[in-house]
Amino acid sequence: MKGGKLLIFSAPSGSGKTTIVRYLLEQPELNLAFSVSATSRTRRGKEKQGEHYYFMNVSEFKNHIKNDDFLEWEEVYRDNFYGTLKSEVERLWAEGKNVIFDIDVVGGLRIKKKYPKETLAVFVKPPSVDELKIRLKKRSTESDDKINMRIAKASVELATAPQFDEIINNYDLETALKEARDLVAEFVGASTSKEEDQK
Ligand code: 5GP
Repeated sequence: MKGGKLLIFSAPSGSGKTTIVRYLLEQPELNLAFSVSATSRTRRGKEKQGEHYYFMNVSEFKNHIKNDDFLEWEEVYRDNFYGTLKSEVERLWAEGKNVIFDIDVVGGLRIKKKYPKETLAVFVKPPSVDELKIRLKKRSTESDDKINMRIAKASVELATAPQFDEIINNYDLETALKEARDLVAEFVGASTSKEEDQK
């Protein structure tokens, strides 16, 4: 099995990208491992340390910046830092894995710039900003203020979609999942679901 590829999935919060990334991780032929990001935001719901994120406080995060430990980092929302530790990608590549990221558009495009050949950058588009609002409210893990902050950012992020290698329109989840699986399979050189369907 070949590894060493980077798969970036970026999208406005609430677009369904986390569901897509989780689904892809369950497909053994893709040989994927999830890049766990560092963040200074507070834990939500059932999130676990070292599994969903490496949670740390702002000063610990800033120390990592000072030590040049990040491949990329971003103050995604005020005082909410997020970043990809170089050690995380090195660890997963050493295991022979393809690394998949669930990160914001700026971070995603930065990684693509650093590793142009190894990276497939995919933008997941929500049906509309209104639909995004409904999804975030349904999730109800955050206050209205935080939801509004995410909606404001979404409009800016949508404008960056053309800079990505591929765009997946998430109108219908089943279709989006299949499209994502086929794109990644082709990029990492695994057999596609189309081939499997013909068997
Ligand atoms: P959330 O708070 O919903 O988990 O994530 C907020 C945003 O930060 C999402 O768009 C998420 O993809 C992004 N994010 C998560 N990890 C990273 C990272 O390591 N770097 C960057 N640039 N963004 C990240």
